[in-house]
Amino acid sequence: MSEKKGHFKIMVQEKEHTLVLASGNKGKAREFEQMLEPLGYKIVLQKDLGVIEPEETGRSFIENALIKARAASDQTGLMALADDSGLCVDALNGAPGVLSARFSGVHGDDQANNDLLLEKLKDVREGERGARYCCALCLVRYKDDPMPLCVTGTWSGSIGFSPRGKGGFGYDPLFMVTGRNCTAAELPSQLKNLISHRAVALKRLVSELSPA
Ligand code: IMP
Repeated sequence: MSEKKGHFKIMVQEKEHTLVLASGNKGKAREFEQMLEPLGYKIVLQKDLGVIEPEETGRSFIENALIKARAASDQTGLMALADDSGLCVDALNGAPGVLSARFSGVHGDDQANNDLLLEKLKDVREGERGARYCCALCLVRYKDDPMPLCVTGTWSGSIGFSPRGKGGFGYDPLFMVTGRNCTAAELPSQLKNLISHRAVALKRLVSELSPA
């Protein structure tokens, strides 16, 4: 790890670092900028460089993040960082997993995805509805980087019986946060951004990139 750390440290200190972010989400971009610009990275959104998004054919979050990072690096010639995330429910053997955004068949239809999740869990008792939000981040220095920097973060909870709260997005109204009597959609967004799967993964990425 120290070797990898050292290697990335040298990159930070010696090169001009433009990092393409393989995500179109402005909120995420802001979070990444806040954490990575102090390390000397300039963040550029892939859509501003005309990157064509690849198909996400991986079976894990890491595989999909790597596919996206490599595609962005391939098309721009720059270092690239990609994230992939989703919800894994124990009683469903990890589903919806990498299919989280299109669980119901329609990409990004949060209502339909939540309805389907409740339907699939209708016979599952309280105490057996454990779940985790998961996030993988992969950074490649060039498209065929044989040593990508990949980190993960998780956020544990359980799936409620009906939606609660108006904040967040996706499965947040159903995601009961462990240790708090509320759903992710009832948490203030600043708090969610401090403790979420993405926050955990991003902190790990930063600790790999920064001086010890
Ligand atoms: P993406 O990786 O940001 O595209 O997220 C994939 C899908 O996972 C989203 O469309 C949501 O359904 C789900 N997801 C990921 N992170 C969250 C979260 O923080 N809250 C709610 N749903 C999430």
